Amino acid sequence: MRLAEQRVSLNKQLRIFLAILGFLIFPAPEEVHAQSLKVRFIVTSLSPAKVLVEAEGPLSDTWSFRNIYAGIPRLGQRIERLKGATPDETVSVDNLAPGEFRSNKEISRFSYEILLEERSRIAELSHVSWINQERGFLMLADILPRLGRGSLVPSPTTIEFQLPSGWTVASAVLPDKNQRYTVANIDSAVFYIGRGLRETHVRADSMDLALVTSGDWAFAHSDAIKLVGKIAKEYTKLTKHRLNGRAVILLAPFDGIVGAERWTAEARGASVVLLLGPNASGRALLARLGVVLAHELFHLWVPNRLPLQGDYDWFFEGFTLYQALLTCLRLNLIKFDDYLDTMARVYDSYRSLPDHDRLSLIEASERRWTAAPSFVYDKGMLVAFIHDLTLRQLTRSRTSGADIYPQLFRTAATGPGNANEVIMSILNRQPGMKQFFERYIQNSGDIALDATIAPYGLRVETSNFRTRIRINKELTVEQQRVLRSLGYQG
Ligand SMILES: [Zn+2]
Repeated sequence: MRLAEQRVSLNKQLRIFLAILGFLIFPAPEEVHAQSLKVRFIVTSLSPAKVLVEAEGPLSDTWSFRNIYAGIPRLGQRIERLKGATPDETVSVDNLAPGEFRSNKEISRFSYEILLEERSRIAELSHVSWINQERGFLMLADILPRLGRGSLVPSPTTIEFQLPSGWTVASAVLPDKNQRYTVANIDSAVFYIGRGLRETHVRADSMDLALVTSGDWAFAHSDAIKLVGKIAKEYTKLTKHRLNGRAVILLAPFDGIVGAERWTAEARGASVVLLLGPNASGRALLARLGVVLAHELFHLWVPNRLPLQGDYDWFFEGFTLYQALLTCLRLNLIKFDDYLDTMARVYDSYRSLPDHDRLSLIEASERRWTAAPSFVYDKGMLVAFIHDLTLRQLTRSRTSGADIYPQLFRTAATGPGNANEVIMSILNRQPGMKQFFERYIQNSGDIALDATIAPYGLRVETSNFRTRIRINKELTVEQQRVLRSLGYQG
């Protein structure tokens, strides 16, 4: 899972406004981000989990904290006692609304407390900050404020930690010799803190990948990191785009007796936060890690390294999930039957959604957290499946759905663009697929899987409300070629 930034940039609005007035406009990101902030996080208590934040930055009289993320509300209520820290001046600060503070004069030094109790819903643990007795995640996006009445994002931000004894820090950013971390973009910065953090490395092409864990795991860390390296190399090959520098997988166990079937993850910037039920054999845990990371590691490329704009969750979730499934098949993490079974399950899940034939993928991506959240995954994945099969057949298996990705990175290299327009031009480029984007992504409408996959020697069977995708006994040469190109060995 990866979350697109929903916020409309105030700066962009301002630029458009000034452009209308006829002023000469310079691109402003550097100016907006040029306000650096120094922060110290002091974990003052573990029960209840509480962090004191001391900060010093540009003069400001307004502080705005994120109140909702990934559909998780009331985050601003965790922020308490924001006050000026200028020693000889008294500043009164009003708490206007949850996470919204304003003072009667501009100040540069301030402090506040933040309550970071562990989330009770385990699906939330990969999306927002929390701390328990053993470990926690500090995600700067929900614990640092936007500054001033223009809600400016401070950058760079320099961070120091004061943690309980025996606790250490891990992140995609490495500290300087004074143990200070400098972060350019607070929205993608995650810090894993805890007791007994353990880090294993692997070099995958030009990338340094680290797996950071805490707690007891039944797998050998050397096996897990080998798997991580193998998956990452697949994506360098698939995208034809090398990532440089360090990326981290921050793995934490759920508390209590939870098996490997429960997990939650989010990829932000160069970090994958993953929580997994540890109560399983090493083999089962590695199998789960393989399947989950095949999707999450792909996010380090898509969308995290694509400078594309707009809501295109249908693509970076649905299409990416489909490619992750094929990656699992290529790496022998799953069998061909598992591939077909997964698509059948996705089809059932898609059909069970009440508005599945009335909502387009574009609309669903624009309101992912208010519409059915699984729709962008389910329909996106089904459309990716259809796109892949069609392309393989049309090009006699010389190309496949995976070829979108190198084209995307080549197009993106020319500068930022509108994601849906760029992807539309790629999807519709192939002769014979002219209206593919309009039909499956832009417009609503049901997917009749049986009729759609029949030309490929596949059929849909349903019994006891459960769909299965079967391969016909008799296959034409062409059908055989398409299925074999996917990994079918019959
Ligand atoms: Zn995802």
